[in-house]
Amino acid sequence: MSNNYPQPLSGMVVPRFGEVATFMRLPIERDPARLDIALVGVPWDGGTTFRPGARHGPREMRNMSTLMRRVHHASLVSPYELCRVGDHGDTPVNPIDLHDSLKRIEGFFARLHQAGAAPLSAGGDHLVTLPILRAIARERPVGVIHFDAHSDTSDAYFDGQKYTHGTPFRRAIEEGLIEPRRMIQIGVRGSIYERGEKDWANSVGIRIVHIEEYFRRGAEAVIAEAREIVGGGPTYVSFDVDGLDPVYAPGTGTPEIGGFSTAEAQRMIRLLDGLDLVGGDVVEVAPPFDPSGNTALVGATLMFEILCVLAPAVARRKNLS
Ligand code: MN
Ligand code: MN
Repeated sequence: MSNNYPQPLSGMVVPRFGEVATFMRLPIERDPARLDIALVGVPWDGGTTFRPGARHGPREMRNMSTLMRRVHHASLVSPYELCRVGDHGDTPVNPIDLHDSLKRIEGFFARLHQAGAAPLSAGGDHLVTLPILRAIARERPVGVIHFDAHSDTSDAYFDGQKYTHGTPFRRAIEEGLIEPRRMIQIGVRGSIYERGEKDWANSVGIRIVHIEEYFRRGAEAVIAEAREIVGGGPTYVSFDVDGLDPVYAPGTGTPEIGGFSTAEAQRMIRLLDGLDLVGGDVVEVAPPFDPSGNTALVGATLMFEILCVLAPAVARRKNLS
């Protein structure tokens, strides 16, 4: 190794079923100043409206991430050669207080952001993306590439509740954290409460690619458009695992049939290489609904895929070599 960046524990030295499970078998590093990319768990699902369980996502994704090896087999990128990546632990949460949780989560990511580390997080339900963006996008709004079966731009749920995993992107846009004209949602589908449900999203300029359009045009064309939409500006990647067909990811709170496959998700993420990515998350992995562990494996693998396009972006921005 030409640098002394943190490296994953090798399965050639300690078998991959051994030792304490951390994200990608990286060392735990609690000091954000020592990281360029922080892998973070957000064990919280207090914004869930249907079946909870995503609070258990980070631990199971850590476990399954021990299957990730150092080098991406297609791009041959090893993120750990490009920058300092470590397991930064879990954010504090309050399992019985939504607003206190949002504050705690934001504080954790704000500390990271001030230290200059980019976050790649494991949820948690999708509301966790809001405090992450509050921490990293206050001074400069981001573009967003959002994979999901749902638009998550509802105004309120159940008697006027403004903060649920169905509302994070509406709140983030209202708070000026996202440039809506630099946002694209891919994979949206499923029955809706009313015909005009996407009117607000459309009116602020979010590009919604419903799953029917995705299958008609294919990954290459859709991601080519996504790249045009986000352009050269800072861009965040948010991957709700329910964007996948539940055949591939049954362990999630709000499954919708008819989604894209894991192979298609991998192809789309790889095509994000070269964008100015500033962070990402994989959310809504709810292990209790998938005792096989496959959804956690899917989540961990998607984190690795995102890491392999995020690390080159971080290295470019920081002029690391
Ligand atoms: Mn979502
Ligand atoms: Mn969803």
